[in-house]
Amino acid sequence: MVLAQLGGSISRALAQMSNATVIDEKVLNDCLNEISRALLQADVQFKMVRDMQANIKRIVNLEALAAGTNKRRIMQQAVFTELCNMLDPGKPSFTPKKGKPSVVMFVGLQGSGKTTTCTKYAYYHQRKGFKPALVCADTFRAGAFDQLKQNATKAKIPFYGSYMESDPVKIAVEGVERFKKENCDLIIVDTSGRHKQEAALFEEMRQVSEATKPDLVIFVMDSSIGQAAFDQAQAFKQSVSVGAVIITKMDGHAKGGGALSAVAATKSPVIFIGTGEHIDEFEVFDVKPFVSRLLGMGDWSGFMDKIHEVVPTDQQPELLQKLSEGSFTLRLMYEQFQNILKMGPIGQVFSMLPGFSAELMPKGHEKESQAKIKRYMTMMDSMTDAELDSTNPKLMTESRITRIARGSGRPVRDVMDMLEEYKRLAKIWGKMKGLKIPKKGEMSALSRNMNV
Ligand code: GDP
Repeated sequence: MVLAQLGGSISRALAQMSNATVIDEKVLNDCLNEISRALLQADVQFKMVRDMQANIKRIVNLEALAAGTNKRRIMQQAVFTELCNMLDPGKPSFTPKKGKPSVVMFVGLQGSGKTTTCTKYAYYHQRKGFKPALVCADTFRAGAFDQLKQNATKAKIPFYGSYMESDPVKIAVEGVERFKKENCDLIIVDTSGRHKQEAALFEEMRQVSEATKPDLVIFVMDSSIGQAAFDQAQAFKQSVSVGAVIITKMDGHAKGGGALSAVAATKSPVIFIGTGEHIDEFEVFDVKPFVSRLLGMGDWSGFMDKIHEVVPTDQQPELLQKLSEGSFTLRLMYEQFQNILKMGPIGQVFSMLPGFSAELMPKGHEKESQAKIKRYMTMMDSMTDAELDSTNPKLMTESRITRIARGSGRPVRDVMDMLEEYKRLAKIWGKMKGLKIPKKGEMSALSRNMNV
């Protein structure tokens, strides 16, 4: 995800500022210009960037910056708040309730991932105990019904559509009626998309919306559309009352800044993001953890509090010692996996680390995450002690990787995946290096140190 580069650029701009001996108007402006450039490069709309710059200038008091010891933190906090504000329209979206029929209509351009996302959304709620159903009101694209049918069948979700009927409104109404009678509590209507915004598309959408009276209209947007995001989202919002946004293809090379623009244009929150073609590559979107991750902040203070809260006192020094050494070996990863699987207290602690929770164990996918962890452990069982205890990734040559794959009966790709995971966690872990073991009550001082 290219958004990670945005986080990197912002962090660099903040570092440059905090290295300056005197903080004056010029240094502050240089820093803000750097940050603005990074946001524009990530396809955030120009007007939003300009507003953000003005807001930060208002929040950040130059005198406090000049005197304050931790300028970077003050600025980082201001950037954090502003990015959160951009992504948070201030009102939550409608959420379906179990047992009470809700109609959710999906809109978006063709190719945005709308049909795929309808099924992901249905599947997500099915696993939460809902009784979802899918209605294909896309009569424009040949094959749309087949695609929905195929996806729905795989996920065992009832569906409705027609090869003969060309009136989307009629299909939508029939489908909704039918599933209401069948006591489905989440009826999802997939509407037509077009290659570009056209009057016919919007008129059709409006009619389907009028006829089915959806409780929620979700606008689906491909994360790679760039600067066009704002206008596109606004055009949809003007035709139907969009109440939430889902951004797809966040796994690709998209710059992702368009997500911020879509929120601004529709005044609706992003509720999920699509992170792959597969039905479960779908994540709930939470603003604060997302921005934290973007800025590489992580919830260090919460993490340390948790250590004191749940790790038995006699185990704390050893764990903190390992953290402070900052050397993350595969063996340490193995031990943490064991903890996570046991879901013992330390498991809870590690699930608070941004790396462990968001990437390795996404919410709602606990079962798959556990299976993945077990697979990783099987592969690590085929490693030598030297490999497990090394912190040098270069040790893992092609022949070693092949040997581990053969030994564990897994494809080479899986071993590579596991090593990637290791590298990612080692990077996060590396930030703990030099950690002073804090006493109770010293958490905020610690989090200040970690937050750089
Ligand atoms: P629609 O025309 O808007 O209904 O789009 P589709 O649902 O047919 O999706 C278009 C293409 O995007 C398909 O090849 C999907 O598999 C793919 N796609 C959808 N969502 C994602 C996603 O989150 N990540 C990736 N990598 N591909 C996606």
